Amino acid sequence: LAERTRAGASRILVFVRLRPMAKKEKEAGSKSCVKIVNKRDVYLTEFSNENDYLRLKRVRGRHFTFDASFPESTNQQEVYCTTTEELVEAVLQGRNGSVFCYGATGAGKTYTMLGTVENPGVMVLAIKDLFNKIRQRSFDGHHEVNLSYLEVYNETVRDLLSPGRPLVLREDKQGILAAGLTQYRAFSTDEVMALLQQGNLNRTTEPTRANETSSRSHAILQVIVEYRTKDALDNVVNRIGKLSLIDLAGSERALATDQRTLRSLEGANINKSLLALSSCINALVEGKKHIPYRNSKLTQLLKDSLGGACNTVMIANICPSSLSFGETQNTLHWADRAKEI
Ligand code: ADP
Ligand code: MG
Repeated sequence: LAERTRAGASRILVFVRLRPMAKKEKEAGSKSCVKIVNKRDVYLTEFSNENDYLRLKRVRGRHFTFDASFPESTNQQEVYCTTTEELVEAVLQGRNGSVFCYGATGAGKTYTMLGTVENPGVMVLAIKDLFNKIRQRSFDGHHEVNLSYLEVYNETVRDLLSPGRPLVLREDKQGILAAGLTQYRAFSTDEVMALLQQGNLNRTTEPTRANETSSRSHAILQVIVEYRTKDALDNVVNRIGKLSLIDLAGSERALATDQRTLRSLEGANINKSLLALSSCINALVEGKKHIPYRNSKLTQLLKDSLGGACNTVMIANICPSSLSFGETQNTLHWADRAKEI
């Protein structure tokens, strides 16, 4: 954390999580093309097409290093503690932070963020930990926790806690906010898990696949912690911190690490918010003064939680199957680039 705030420079911490091979992938005869060693290093291997004798022996490999990399066996608690716990502490100090999960559809983003009732993910573990930390400090002032859970789909913002008409973004002195968004006052973890599971069911689904969340839907949980106390002179002290936890849309075809590729992708009916996020991250990587937050709903909503003095964490989700080699390679390249911020 000290390293991050040094000289006001922000750095994104980048993590990689490899999910276990699915039964279907095994049955399809896929091999594992990813190996994680020393909790940091990711080895990606491209297998040659075995039906093509000319290329039979040609195997390319590449090696990446991240702040930490999680092998298949890593549980939800370990992922939470390594990636997000520090940000929860910072939010209690009145700072903003954000955690993004990105990667191709099926790579494990929603599992990492929301998880299941038996294995709750980062969103739920963060709130649980937040309540624990607040309890330990209950002698010292008053804390209030409010949640909002929203979706960006096709550049439309919707309230996942109270579905209805699209929300309009407004700018005021405090920043950009979605007008009329539900602020849910939270008191315990159990109610929150149920609330988030319900909210997730409210995400947009593709008409053709009625029960499956659209791969183009971004879900954003914002946890706002307000702290009030009185100092020795009886003055009211007030501070607010915000933690944003984001389950991004599937990144297939939308991961670009340079401006030229980004431009060629525009108009190709690719998720505008995901491209805009890439652009903002590129601009932050290059140390640009102007960060194009205004280009999408997602980046507008996260303007106060990305770059600057904020703590930003990326969790790149990948799957081991050689069938997904291309997507995994893209995800790792993009994650490698984000490291430079
Ligand atoms: P995404 O949200 O990126 O499209 P999901 O989170 O829905 O992907 O994961 C796809 C499938 O893989 C789901 O059935 C999920 O339960 C399973 N899965 C993902 N990550 C893990 C993991 N770390 N351990 C066990 N199962 C996982
Ligand atoms: Mg998902």
